[in-house]
Amino acid sequence: MKKPRILIVEDEPDIAELVAVNLRHNGFAPVWAEDGAGAQLEIDAVLPDAILLDWMLPGQSGLALARRWRSDPRTKAIPLLMITARGDEPDKVAGLDAGADDYITKPFSTQELLARIRAVLRRRAPEQASESVSVGHLTLDPSAYRVTWDQQPLRLGPTEFKLLNYLMRHPERVHSRAQLLDKVWGDHVFIEERTVDVHVKRLREALGPGGALVETVRGAGYRLTAMPASSTAAA
Ligand code: CA
Repeated sequence: MKKPRILIVEDEPDIAELVAVNLRHNGFAPVWAEDGAGAQLEIDAVLPDAILLDWMLPGQSGLALARRWRSDPRTKAIPLLMITARGDEPDKVAGLDAGADDYITKPFSTQELLARIRAVLRRRAPEQASESVSVGHLTLDPSAYRVTWDQQPLRLGPTEFKLLNYLMRHPERVHSRAQLLDKVWGDHVFIEERTVDVHVKRLREALGPGGALVETVRGAGYRLTAMPASSTAAA
């Protein structure tokens, strides 16, 4: 499995370096930015799997950045862990109100930091789960790398498998092509959106009768539903 990419936004190099070394030793891929502008450049290039955000930064504060990323559709679902040097309860509440998933107070132990990062990743990234998932007659089992319709095995390509896994773990909601590129293709953000259409078409063909569960929502994107409406499923 791909190493989770963790963006560290921290203006103190000693702390950033310490955190990065520990993350690297524990199976993460850390990236460091020293302020909001640098962090935005990293995010524009590749979406991180989680952000570690220092409260006190030069320029825009961590709080302002948290609000901004939470209001942007592209970044709003990224797990956000705020780092604060202050012990004040109102600040922590403000951080959580701004959309942080959790906070950690300096000085913190490496074990505590790792535990909290793993926790926010688990809460926010159910598609990385290894449990099987079912929608209607369709079942996907990531650990066995197996998809079945009515208990009959289906053959899917690797991209179709990832796409279906994501859709099945976020059913009954519309995903734009850009969102699917970010979530399913991940690092390859420069792939054309039309690529998504090609793989959705292949996925529908591979699913046979289950293909109708993958609906086109005109002008918006795609949705996996247990109750397909035939008018949209045909598009
Ligand atoms: Ca700082």
